[in-house]
Amino acid sequence: MPRSSLYDRYQKAGSDYQAHRAECGQCTDAAHCPAGHPLYETWARLQDLYLKHFRR
Ligand SMILES: [Zn+2]
Repeated sequence: MPRSSLYDRYQKAGSDYQAHRAECGQCTDAAHCPAGHPLYETWARLQDLYLKHFRR
């Protein structure tokens, strides 16, 4: 399992989402705009994978 690859994708998705949040003004923790939603979904999925992989 390429550990750094998953970590890199998780970090990349996180910074993409944070960058969008900083500029958007519509995205909140509870709701996301059409552009922000897929960014959040990707980040959340990678975070889930990452945490499952490294914590048992
Ligand atoms: Zn947004």
